[in-house]
Amino acid sequence: MKYYSTNGQAPLATLHEAVVKGLAGDKGLYMPERIKPLPQRFFDHIEELSFQEIAYQVADAFFGEDVPADTLRQIVYDTLAFDVPAVKVEDNIYSLELFHGPTLAFKDVGARFMARLLGYFIRQEGNEQVNVLVATSGDTGSAVANGFLGVEGIHVYVLYPKGKVSPIQECQFTTLGQNITALEIDGVFDDCQALVKNAFMDADLNKHMKLTSANSINVARFLPQAFYYFYAYAQLKKQGKADQMVVCVPSGNFGNICSALFGKKMGLPVKRFIAANNANDIFFNYLKTGQYEPKASVQTIANAMDVGDPSNFARIYTLYNKDHAAICADISGATYTDEQIAEAMRQCKETTGYVCDPHGACGYQALKEGLKEGETGVYLETAHPAKFKSVVDGILNSDIEIPAKLQAFMKGTKQSIALSKDFSEFKEFLMNE
Ligand SMILES: *Cc1c(COP(=O)(O)O)cnc(C)c1O
Repeated sequence: MKYYSTNGQAPLATLHEAVVKGLAGDKGLYMPERIKPLPQRFFDHIEELSFQEIAYQVADAFFGEDVPADTLRQIVYDTLAFDVPAVKVEDNIYSLELFHGPTLAFKDVGARFMARLLGYFIRQEGNEQVNVLVATSGDTGSAVANGFLGVEGIHVYVLYPKGKVSPIQECQFTTLGQNITALEIDGVFDDCQALVKNAFMDADLNKHMKLTSANSINVARFLPQAFYYFYAYAQLKKQGKADQMVVCVPSGNFGNICSALFGKKMGLPVKRFIAANNANDIFFNYLKTGQYEPKASVQTIANAMDVGDPSNFARIYTLYNKDHAAICADISGATYTDEQIAEAMRQCKETTGYVCDPHGACGYQALKEGLKEGETGVYLETAHPAKFKSVVDGILNSDIEIPAKLQAFMKGTKQSIALSKDFSEFKEFLMNE
């Protein structure tokens, strides 16, 4: 299968090229040339299949031409070494818990899949080591570091701003060792990002070592997110609740919901979608006005969704042939202030006992307000509430338990290398690696 760029100015790429490059040469996002519908018999019996098997069938439709079946099956089964249960919150509202992976957030799925696929391509090429550079303000670093941990042939450098990530986040990528090196940069997130960008453009460095990014726009991180929507459908079908399924996705860069839209094009019977936003309402306004007007992001308590120019909008726009009416027919929007998010968390806890994290709460609230008679809604719980413990405890007046997995990270020894934000120092460090 070939991949084309949403900007239409770059040559078609193979899967291998698209995964290694991440972004197309014209700065567009790669899209698979074809979307293969899955056969009706797959949906007829989907509730009898395991999560891994469902995901393998979906992965085969995208990657089956480029990766041998037994390798792809192993990559999928390895990636999904944890469950994604659809938990009943109310009669017609389910929470799809995506936080049972190693870093307790949904980005684990895409990061683990990409690491294994890249590992396969490296082995094919004869094992030249590939170095992944990733700048993080918190969550991306932990998902990527843990996703790539122990994958042969790949070394990961995580650049993070000193003193600007939470202690829980920091320990998730500084305590791992092995093929993960944490670089503590004396600067802000933008400085980390600039160092990574400069490294990719530096001729000496690129001669010295093979560099790649694990950005969230990478097709190998983005497409695997479609897996769990099929599994959500299977779980609802088992309970006789799948006939009018509404999927609600708390969205930031819109990668997650975009993969769900790909699922629909493959035949997944979703009645409609809701994109739930915090105060960053660019997509919400696009639905209302037909104008896409990016703006500076504002900080909220659902901070993984603080995005002012969602990169995957380009994919959605391309998928729907730039047709505003067609987009509106499939997707509606919602936007919530911090106060409304907090209120939704309190209301959900009081009436159902279920604890939402601030991101999931946007999804829950959008279903509460938007579900119609006969519909069943599934919203994504994109992270475990304990990842945002101080915010959640402050709102719910609680002392939520930190899962053992998270505690284990916190017990590890921090290992990181301190660097200034000066590119020459970063370059010298890498040249000696
Ligand atoms: C990344 C993230 C999101 C947003 O997902 P997108 O694919 O960027 O829309 C939502 N919630 C959490 C907890 C996240 O980490």
